[in-house]
Amino acid sequence: MTRFNFEVITLFPKAFELINNLGVITRALEKNLINVNLHDLREYGEGNYRQVDDKPYGGGSGMVLKPEPIYKAHDSIDKLPNSKTLLMTPQGKVLKQQDLLRWSSLDQLIIICGQYEGFDERVRCLADEEVSIGDYVLSGGEIPSISIINGLTRLLPGTLGDPGSLIDESHNSSLLEYPHYTRPLIFREMRVPDILVSGNHEEIKLWRKQKMLERTLDRRNDLISNDDYKKLPKSKRIKRDSNEIMKFRIGNGYDIHRLVEGRDLIIGGVKMQHPDNLGLDGHSDADVLSHSIMDALLGALSLGDIGKYFPPSDQKWKNADSLFLLSKVIELIRKEGWEVNNIDSVIVAERPKIKPYVQVMKNNISDTLQINGSFIGIKATTNEKLGPEGREEGISCHSVVLLEKKE
Ligand code: SAH
Repeated sequence: MTRFNFEVITLFPKAFELINNLGVITRALEKNLINVNLHDLREYGEGNYRQVDDKPYGGGSGMVLKPEPIYKAHDSIDKLPNSKTLLMTPQGKVLKQQDLLRWSSLDQLIIICGQYEGFDERVRCLADEEVSIGDYVLSGGEIPSISIINGLTRLLPGTLGDPGSLIDESHNSSLLEYPHYTRPLIFREMRVPDILVSGNHEEIKLWRKQKMLERTLDRRNDLISNDDYKKLPKSKRIKRDSNEIMKFRIGNGYDIHRLVEGRDLIIGGVKMQHPDNLGLDGHSDADVLSHSIMDALLGALSLGDIGKYFPPSDQKWKNADSLFLLSKVIELIRKEGWEVNNIDSVIVAERPKIKPYVQVMKNNISDTLQINGSFIGIKATTNEKLGPEGREEGISCHSVVLLEKKE
């Protein structure tokens, strides 16, 4: 008795000749483990020309498969008690190994292959599930459906010589498979790991488990479960290449400078007038806004702080224009492949009133970083006479930035 029945509705039945040349799948056909019945859509076409497609309502390019022939073909199939209909479409749920496993306990899969621009929307009602084989578009559903036939058949008992080969396989659990080696022992100076020729089966088992975890972490971080992650030795738990995966990084910066006599008061590149003629003390121009933004930018990429790049011990930076320093920092950030998404800063000063200067500060930061001013937030607050800012001993600034990885 045939174990599994595939019924394929297709305009190109010839494409399925491929499964007669697919090793284990061909053997499964010969052993009657599967049956592949092809239903030529053309035979259900309309009129003398057996028309199966037509122009789309509303205009547009390409042809669309008509609903009637597909419904007729579907109606003509004897449904087994345990049967499902799959519709091949790039708009479907992306096929996973778990789906193949789930369907392998059915008796029958009816697979509808689209062509051209696809099919009339009403065809979707026939489907129990809509399936995509990946986020790309092929010209027809034949290759996707052969993929399903192939992947499912090798799960059926009796198909594979050694069913044990299914157990560790990639995507069977949440882990990718460990690396395989066969003879020769040394090939072009690449040697098979010693452990595999040690004959110690316990150690080999452990090594393989370890490699599965490492490999998944390296290549498909998205697949790994929390439980698997915990099984890794601590030294391996750091998710490498995190920049490859993370699209965003957030950074936080803070700076405070003392208010003294005889210094300019420069914030955000704007020279301001303090009522008591005080200014900010520091090695550079002591611009707390620019400094806190620089620290936030560097912090977002774990690159340290501005002291590391522009040390006060270096005479070069004496009275330096902090906007210039900021332009150097943004160069570094862009060199690392990141772009500023937005910035939010708050200046804490009792006096002078900051608000009238905010727009000019914003323009300066926007020009220096070459980002639109609408992505820069600058706010000011007093400290209600509390703390060093409140006692007018200094002025501080907090900044947060969000960086986005460039494509
Ligand atoms: N215009 C359609 C794509 C049509 S491609 C759209 O944008 O959705 C023609 C046919 O090829 C589809 O009807 C479908 O049966 C098949 N096909 C193409 N890519 C596929 C994929 N990734 N997975 C499953 N089927 C696909």
